[in-house]
Amino acid sequence: MYLHGTSRINEKGHLEIGGCDTVNLVEEFQSPLYVYDEELIRRKCRAFINAFRDSGFSFQVAYASKAFCTMAMCQLVEEEGMSLDVVSAGELYTALQAGFPADRIHFHGNNKSIEEIEMALDAKIGCFVADNFYELELLNQLAMERGEVAKVLLRITPGVEAHTHEYISTGQQDSKFGFDVISDQALRAIQTSLAADSLELLGVHCHIGSQIFETDGFLMAVERVAAFLQEVKEKTGFTCTVANFGGGFGIRYTEGDTPLQPEDYVKAITSKVREEFTKRDIPLPELWIEPGSSVIGDAGTTLYRVGSTKEIPGVRKYLAVDGGMTDNLRPALYQAVYEAALANRMNEAADDLVSIAGKCCESGDMLIWDVKLPVARPGDILAVTSTGAYGYAMSNNYNRIARPAVVFVRDGEAEIVVERETYADIVKNDRVIKRASLQR
Ligand SMILES: *Cc1c(COP(=O)(O)O)cnc(C)c1O
Repeated sequence: MYLHGTSRINEKGHLEIGGCDTVNLVEEFQSPLYVYDEELIRRKCRAFINAFRDSGFSFQVAYASKAFCTMAMCQLVEEEGMSLDVVSAGELYTALQAGFPADRIHFHGNNKSIEEIEMALDAKIGCFVADNFYELELLNQLAMERGEVAKVLLRITPGVEAHTHEYISTGQQDSKFGFDVISDQALRAIQTSLAADSLELLGVHCHIGSQIFETDGFLMAVERVAAFLQEVKEKTGFTCTVANFGGGFGIRYTEGDTPLQPEDYVKAITSKVREEFTKRDIPLPELWIEPGSSVIGDAGTTLYRVGSTKEIPGVRKYLAVDGGMTDNLRPALYQAVYEAALANRMNEAADDLVSIAGKCCESGDMLIWDVKLPVARPGDILAVTSTGAYGYAMSNNYNRIARPAVVFVRDGEAEIVVERETYADIVKNDRVIKRASLQR
C-alpha cells in the first residue's frame, strides 16, 4: 500500500496519519471513520498556487468542492487562498455558512434552478458558469429584475476526449454539459451573452474529464479553446478576460497509478496558453483551474473494522467490513480501484488474497476485488487509502446506515469536522402517519 503525505508506520506497527495512530482514532471515534491528512491537503493547495505564481499569469485556483464539501474544508481552502466551485444551493450554503468569501465562489451546473440562481445573486457570488441557453436567458432576466449585472463564464465542450473512464469524460461533443463548439452552439452562446444587458461575459470554461494522467488532453483543450477564441474575436470582436481549463488532474489510487505533480499540469497549461494565444494574437487571459480530487483525494483514508469472512474453496475469500457502498460508492458506481492494509498490523506479511465486501444488501457492494492482507481477524482495522474525493461526498443512507464521522488530523491532533450520524438523524425527516383511520 502506498503511504501518502504524513502517513507512516509507527513503532507499534500501526498506520499513523498526521501524527495520530489510526488504531487510537478508531477507539476514540469508532468506525467506519474518514481520516483526512490536513498537512497533505495544504501541500496540494500550495503546489497549485505556487506553480501559478511562478508562471506570471493572473490566476484563480478554484477547489471543486463537490469532491468533498464540508464547512471545515471550505475554511481550509479559504485560508490557502483558493477560490471555490459549487454546483448546487447546498454546496453554496455550506460555503457561505463556513464564511467563504462570496466573490471567490463560482457556480456550476447544467440545470440551476431559479431558487439557486436567486440565492447566488443574493450572496453576490463571483461568477456563474453558464451551461446552456435556458440558463443564460434565466440569469439575464433574474439579474435584470434586480437591476444587476451577473458575471458569466460559458462552459464550452471543445470536443476533447480525455483518456479516462467513459462515464467521467465530459469534454467530448456528446455530453450533457456545456455549449458545443463543433456545431457552433458555443459561438451563438457568446453572441447571446454579449447581447444580454444584464450579463457580463468574462470568458470561457472547459473541463475535459477526471483522473487524467497525461498533459496531452489539456494541451489539446488549450489549442481548441484558443482556436475558438480566435474565431470569436474575428466574428464578434470579443476577447476573454478569463479562460478556465477545469480540473481532472489525476491522483494515485493504487501503487500502479503514476499521476503528474500539480505543478506539472500547471506548467503544461500555462506555457501552452502563452504559445497558442500569442501565436493567434489574442491577449493573454487570466487563467483559472478547478482541481477537486487532486486537492483532497489522496489525503483521505477510510478506517473500517473487519467482521465476517466467507471462504469459497478454490474460488474466493470475502472479508466483510462495517461500511461499504454507503461510505464509498465509487467502486460500485464506476469500478474504481483502491488499495488497503490492516492498520493495526502494518509490518506483517500480506499473503492472504481476499476481496473486501461491504455490509449492504447488494452483491455489487464490494470495496476491493483481490487485495493481499495478513490473515485478518474480526476486530482488525482495515485502512483504505485515497478515499478523500467523492467518498464522503457521495455517501448515503442506503439500508439506513448512518454516515461515518470525519476527522482532520495534524501534528498528533485529531479534530472532528463532521459528526457521525445518529439513529435520530436517520429518522429525523420521517413522520409517522397521524390519520386515525389507519386500518388494523
Ligand atoms: C468535477 C469537476 C471538477 C473537478 O474534477 P476532479 O476530477 O475532481 O479534479 C472540476 N470542474 C468541473 C466543472 C467539474 O465538474
